[in-house]
Amino acid sequence: MSIIVTGGTVVTAGGLARADVLCEDGKIAGILDAGTRVAADERLDATDLLIFPGFIDPHVHSRDPGMTEKEDFAHSTLAALCGGVTTLLEMPNAVPPISDRNIFEQRAAAHGRHASVDFGLWGQALGASNIEDLPGLLRAGAVAIKLFWGYALDKATKKLVYNTADAADPDAVIPPPDAGEVLRVFSVMAAEGGLLAAHCEDREIVLGAERLRDGPVEDYADLLASRPALAEIAAVSRAAEFARVTGCRFHVVHTSTARALEIVRAARADGVRISAEACPHYLLLTEAAYARLGPAMKVYPPVRSADDQAALWAAIEDGTVRSVGSDHAPHSLTDLAGSLATRPAGVHGAETLVPLMLAEMTRGRITPERVASVLAESTARLYALDHRKGRVAPGMDADLTLVDPNRDHRIDRAALHTKTKATVFDGWTGRGVAVASVLRGEVVMRDGEPVGEPRGRLVRSRHADRHTLVGR
Ligand SMILES: [Zn+2]
Repeated sequence: MSIIVTGGTVVTAGGLARADVLCEDGKIAGILDAGTRVAADERLDATDLLIFPGFIDPHVHSRDPGMTEKEDFAHSTLAALCGGVTTLLEMPNAVPPISDRNIFEQRAAAHGRHASVDFGLWGQALGASNIEDLPGLLRAGAVAIKLFWGYALDKATKKLVYNTADAADPDAVIPPPDAGEVLRVFSVMAAEGGLLAAHCEDREIVLGAERLRDGPVEDYADLLASRPALAEIAAVSRAAEFARVTGCRFHVVHTSTARALEIVRAARADGVRISAEACPHYLLLTEAAYARLGPAMKVYPPVRSADDQAALWAAIEDGTVRSVGSDHAPHSLTDLAGSLATRPAGVHGAETLVPLMLAEMTRGRITPERVASVLAESTARLYALDHRKGRVAPGMDADLTLVDPNRDHRIDRAALHTKTKATVFDGWTGRGVAVASVLRGEVVMRDGEPVGEPRGRLVRSRHADRHTLVGR
């Protein structure tokens, strides 16, 4: 089975070039001079289109199994597909969380039956109870290990306890790992060469801020006061020093403050293996959006100032931000109807990640090369998927996202493919949209709709055991 993509402009992190892309048996077989005559079973016309490496969303919470009233894997991967993503990396905090190799394999098999895009799986560090399981998770091919730093876990379900007041009952919860346990997690990850990532808000500072404020969270200033910038800054600062001492590769997910980015930048300049992630809601919203959006924009850490937002764009430009992810974190419609105090934190994002970044590209805020980097090439390297994903180059999986940079796009909440339909970007307009996607050599999306049955498969990191045969 072969397909040739003709007439387009191939985008890599290194530049743009007019070329045809020949795909054979699911792999990229050649990058050919435009117009080269070659036999192929199928021809895909990409005239006037940009051919990106298939986009990767590294940060998705599909809530499956255990919280499928909010979302499930079939819906999240379909939404990602329709937006222009060809691989997503699934966060581990479903029920049960992916805390050992057996659960990893069970989750991989279950998700493989419903995946519209290829997927990698994160493992989760619970603290002392599963430190010995982390090497097994990496050897199974987990793309990274996530530490929900500062969160207690429900004893029975190992679900994260979001509300700090609920975490006070010592019989019901496993308290968050202390600094010594977290340092052990860093050390084990360093020895294995795996990537550790964490939610970075210092729990004690958040608890202290809540006590100091001592009143209901009624407006956005209350929310900001209860999750202060210092909570993130302190956690990132500590993580940078832990990474420096242990040599662990560390990634700050959903970075929200300018100062945390400065800490990451300075540590990187010193040779510390640390990087940051940016998400569209921090890149495109500020606290001022609350007047328009209300509690719908509640996320942890919270969306902050215009200065913080500008710092995120600068950090994309200089490589401090190595990857952009959606942090797709859907909730049920009942949850979403809550007030600023009661509504759980988290926004939908799987289907809007790509169009939002493309709109910024055509506005000139980010170059096509940088989009190819933070949504594909650099992300694939960070998560050890660069043996198969992230580049339009011979031998790689034939994953392509074809973009029309001249087509206007409007985000419409009702048209989303997620299980519950919500977005803080309803009505957002921009130029540039993914018009077709190729997954391992097959056209799987056209004009924002799926083509054929779901064909997504597990992709294991290149650290996976050589004798692991399934799903390589
Ligand atoms: Zn998240």
